Amino acid sequence: MKTKGLAAVRRRLRWRIVPRAALVAVLLVASAGVVWLSYTGIREREIARLQANADGRLRQLSQLLLAPAERYSYLPNLLANYRILNDALRAPHDAARVRAANAFLHQLNERTGTSLLYLLDLRGTTVAASNWDAADSLVGRNYAFRPYFTNALRDGAGRFFAMGVTSHKPGYYLSYLVKEGERTLGVAVVKIDLRLPDLGGSNGEMLVTDAAGVAFLSSRPDWNYRPIRPVTPAAAAQLRSTRQYEGVLKAPLASAAGRQLAAGAEIVRLRGGDGVASAWLLVRRRIADSEWNANLLMPMARVEDIARVGALTAAAGIALLLMLGVLLAQLRSRVRERKRSRRRLERAHRALGQQNEELRLLSEELRRKSITDSLTGMANRAFFLDSAAAMVGIAKRHGTPLALLLVDADHFKRINDEYGHPAGDAVLQLLASVLTAQTREGDVAARYGGEEFIVALPHTTAQAASELAERIRGRVAAQPAPPGMAGLRLSVSIGVAQYRPEEADIGETIRRADAALYAAKHAGRDCVRVDGGVAPGT
Ligand code: GH3
Ligand code: MG
Ligand code: MG
Repeated sequence: MKTKGLAAVRRRLRWRIVPRAALVAVLLVASAGVVWLSYTGIREREIARLQANADGRLRQLSQLLLAPAERYSYLPNLLANYRILNDALRAPHDAARVRAANAFLHQLNERTGTSLLYLLDLRGTTVAASNWDAADSLVGRNYAFRPYFTNALRDGAGRFFAMGVTSHKPGYYLSYLVKEGERTLGVAVVKIDLRLPDLGGSNGEMLVTDAAGVAFLSSRPDWNYRPIRPVTPAAAAQLRSTRQYEGVLKAPLASAAGRQLAAGAEIVRLRGGDGVASAWLLVRRRIADSEWNANLLMPMARVEDIARVGALTAAAGIALLLMLGVLLAQLRSRVRERKRSRRRLERAHRALGQQNEELRLLSEELRRKSITDSLTGMANRAFFLDSAAAMVGIAKRHGTPLALLLVDADHFKRINDEYGHPAGDAVLQLLASVLTAQTREGDVAARYGGEEFIVALPHTTAQAASELAERIRGRVAAQPAPPGMAGLRLSVSIGVAQYRPEEADIGETIRRADAALYAAKHAGRDCVRVDGGVAPGT
């Protein structure tokens, strides 16, 4: 019993709980996957959007950064053709000429709004400069190492972005070779100040970084002179030797290189003033004709927020769907259970109906058997007595006549003796069929016992009954000998009696009919006798 229960539980576990648990596990894993995919998908999309936005702004920045340089591109060529400047280059030790050149450059610089104008001799030493009388005057300083100088010597002109060695200010340098006929005198240089153009928009910080990665133009002043990430040892050595940011260089913004994304973008972690690191999207773009990069740094916090909201929305949607699914499954199983129990009920109902029908048929069969004589199929004695009692009731109540015939086969013992018992049975069946054929609806003909039959005839007088009895007797007498009983003359004797109202029941009428039958036997058989009289025609 116990092991049977356990086995059932185990089966239940196997067929119901295990597949459901597996389904739930699969759904959970799939849901987590979808949430994760939506998180990363939204994050990637936002990053791509930021990157596209940054690219546009950086392109603008590069162009605007170069715009002043383009505006002043005519200047070096102009300088190269001024006699006053050529004179100074030809005689750098002539104080009067140099003075004149300085004054001219100063004046021109004021008017054009450039940062510096100066002349270099063929060794790269400044002969005259617009800031000749300032503390950081360029006069006497050598810039032979500057590419704008070497390029001008080689190609006739040069342009170069650089930090001011003396001023520490970033600038765009334009140079042009100064010649007199075929003779080269030196190089005229224009330095244009660079400012970070205002691009509008507040999403992120702009930085311009040099070849070493040090920011020198920044939308956040405190990020100036800070590399975005630690500079390489070689770059550090270079910075030390050129003394480019001496005294102003600060710690890098990020302590390590970031995670590289698609083309020119990466995610870097910047330590804020409070020491807390946060992720920023860094997009970089090389500025044309330079070793500089325009950079845009945008906080990732917003991207992460958007991705988180997206993922939460997806999770909520999935949760809703799962809940709906569970609800539906419950509903379905409830409906199925209801259907199943209805079917069970219907089956039970049908079975009951069938049983009832069987019982009805059985009881009907039993009733039929209980009132039928099995040999002849006629009503039996019990049924006859019941029916006759009812007929007596009616006859009494309405004063209608009721007659009885008692029919007895003549010398039946002989038939049995001569032809055998089965032949006797066949003769009894033959007599039954004659009786049934001769009586009408409402009459009751029954086998009263042995070779004796009885017929109750309602609404019939003894006179009318005796006529029927005579007809029956005649029919029997006219029957041809049944097969195998050649020579047999079949006959019956019939006693007739009519119910008398003073009689308590049919029993007395039967007795009188029996007496009439006895009289018929006594009269020689094959005849009819009526109680209290003789049959018609005899
Ligand atoms: P009677 O003319 O005086 O009526 O003579 P009988 O031989 O018909 O009368 P008796 O009472 O001497 O014999 C009746 C016989 O009927 C006796 C019995 O064996 C036979 N019998 C009674 N019932 C059946 C039955 O169901 N089948 C057969 N084959 N014979 C039956
Ligand atoms: Mg008899
Ligand atoms: Mg007899």
